Amino acid sequence: MNDDLKSLIRTIPDFPKPGIQFRDITTLLLDAQGLRTAIDRMAEATIGPVDLVAGIEARGFLFAAALAVPLNAGVLLIRKDGKLPGATIAEDYALEYGQDRIAMHEDACVPGQRVLLIDDLIATGGTARAAVRLLRKAGAVVDQAQFLIDLPDLGGAEALAADGIRVDSLVAFPGH
Ligand code: AMP
Repeated sequence: MNDDLKSLIRTIPDFPKPGIQFRDITTLLLDAQGLRTAIDRMAEATIGPVDLVAGIEARGFLFAAALAVPLNAGVLLIRKDGKLPGATIAEDYALEYGQDRIAMHEDACVPGQRVLLIDDLIATGGTARAAVRLLRKAGAVVDQAQFLIDLPDLGGAEALAADGIRVDSLVAFPGH
């Protein structure tokens, strides 16, 4: 499945800490044809019109912005708390140790707008599920999410599906 794209993703062992296989998409970004193919396939997988593509900081921004152009949609930024200049709403989520918080501008979407969620990778799903809660709190209709990479053994895609989201990813890496 999408082996052409998979071969453009570099794996860096033990980054940022021992035991993590870091799936590095910078090598895919450097490849003009690979980048175009990834965006084309994400656009093909999108169901129906969407008003906004929401990207999760930071690598998700790249794919969200590129995908929004062919989808004729705007881009909504989901950032680490404290980075956005206007009034925000925020959502907490658990990390392996401790917790983190993501935020969006409270007026970034009009209630009822249909939003497609994008990130480069889904692992445990903690980040993406918090993003869905945040968008829904803002009144968005969120029913699909796309990722370049899924780490299926970490269960994030399954958990997101249980939240009522259609989840698509182009490439899967089994294991952690
Ligand atoms: P999670 O919340 O566990 O689904 O983690 C997803 C977020 O962490 C994404 O924004 C990814 O960019 C990043 N991430 C998690 N695991 C990896 C990994 N093995 N390689 C690269 N990025 C990762």
